[in-house]
Amino acid sequence: MTDVLARLRAMQASDLPVHGGRTLAYVYDSGLPDVDEVGRAAVATYAGSNGLDPTAFPSLLTMENELVGFACDLLDAPGTAVGTVTSGGTESVLLAVQAARDANPSIAHPTMVLPSTAHAAFHKASHYFGVEAVVVPVTSDFRADVAATAAAIDDRTVLVVASAPSYAHGVVDPVTELAGLASAHGVRCHVDACIGGWVLPYASRLGRPITPWTFAVEGVTSISVDLHKYAYAPKGTSILVHRTPALRKPQFFASAAWPGYTMLNATMQSTKSGGPLAAAWAVVQTIGDDGYLSLARDVFDAVDRLVVGIEAIPGLRVVVPPDSTLIALATSSACDPFTICDEMAAAGWYVQPQMAYADSPATIHLSVSAATLAHVDDFLVALSAAVSAALDAGPVLVDEEVVAFISALDPATLSDEDFDGLLAASGLVSSGAGGPGAGGSGTGGSGAGGPGARGSGAGGLVLPERMAEVNAMLDVAAPEMREALLVAFLDRLSRPTRTT
Ligand SMILES: *Cc1c(COP(=O)(O)O)cnc(C)c1O
Repeated sequence: MTDVLARLRAMQASDLPVHGGRTLAYVYDSGLPDVDEVGRAAVATYAGSNGLDPTAFPSLLTMENELVGFACDLLDAPGTAVGTVTSGGTESVLLAVQAARDANPSIAHPTMVLPSTAHAAFHKASHYFGVEAVVVPVTSDFRADVAATAAAIDDRTVLVVASAPSYAHGVVDPVTELAGLASAHGVRCHVDACIGGWVLPYASRLGRPITPWTFAVEGVTSISVDLHKYAYAPKGTSILVHRTPALRKPQFFASAAWPGYTMLNATMQSTKSGGPLAAAWAVVQTIGDDGYLSLARDVFDAVDRLVVGIEAIPGLRVVVPPDSTLIALATSSACDPFTICDEMAAAGWYVQPQMAYADSPATIHLSVSAATLAHVDDFLVALSAAVSAALDAGPVLVDEEVVAFISALDPATLSDEDFDGLLAASGLVSSGAGGPGAGGSGTGGSGAGGPGARGSGAGGLVLPERMAEVNAMLDVAAPEMREALLVAFLDRLSRPTRTT
């Protein structure tokens, strides 16, 4: 057993560190060792418990109700509010959209109105549930455009979406106005506070000016808030709160249409581990309200110092003053954000590249954690050096031929041969045994370069150590093309390791 665990830990060494405050996306670190320990112990204790049936595992129901109660207090929820613990932000968003659709069975072709900055999870919900996304541009400050939203709402609309804050730019939409429009049309309004919901209430208590976004805003019908982000819980939990039980009802699913147990589910999963829920409960109990206030003080102290420090680095700017704990950085035209990400990775820091989209330039995303506070000065020194190196190198250029190759491809029909051709044209093929090497994306789960070299994946596919060329190539591709290329990439990456 110790041998297997040692092998696990050895494998984990090639991953991004989840603690230490040097990973500024994907992970959220309270910096409190107790919290970490209690979370891990709770996951282990409840790993085999099944959240499928709350009558068989009543302790899970108790923990869920207590967690939702804590969230209701944070979210200014009325006494009528109810909620569900889900597996993550995406599941909370999917369920909010599914419930809005199913509350309106008479609308044959439902739509939802989203600001262009809404999380991609809404596009996934659109894809899964056939609710057309009507995307409305944002104003120059990257906040939802109220007039454009008003114009986009019609008889087919079942949901209006706002973010608190948006992931890419870290700003809160004008929720009062958006929820007001929704309510005037008798339509639901979901506030996606997946990333801000557990920290913005404390920001308000600390006296920071925050645009109203909670259930205190009339017309807000549901809010999602992730526990595995700023509640600093282990991965695998989020909460979806609805203003009333009637609003939640279409989210539930029961089926007696088979000879087995009558299936009754509040979420998309059926059998689900009790581990993440127990861990979230244990972490929230351990940190508590006072603890979260203190962690919020730390994280906003870090954010404020980072903003000042970043503005002082020539060649770099903060895209928009952050409302919460997320910072988007853009570069001058003398360098590019992707090279800076690589330089930071080489120095042991993970910062996340974001592609250009609509009026937003390519940027660098920082999710700041409480644990980052202790490292702010080191971070700024590293960032300054990374920008200098990027300025020396100049902006990464994508070969004209590669640009031409990409623009000649059709994302709808992208074939394996096209993908191989692109790898060849871009010089990304590693001719070693086992096939082509391809790049990861900066946009999602694959992660563009942790500290040090990336290991070889299945099928001999090797990730390059520097991702700037790959990211720059994706950046010149249209969004649909980026999607097709990344899907082709993921397909190559995930191939079984066969022993015979
Ligand atoms: C993280 C996030 C999501 C999706 O959450 P996952 O937990 O990654 O599934 C949705 N919306 C926002 C604003 C987020 O930051």
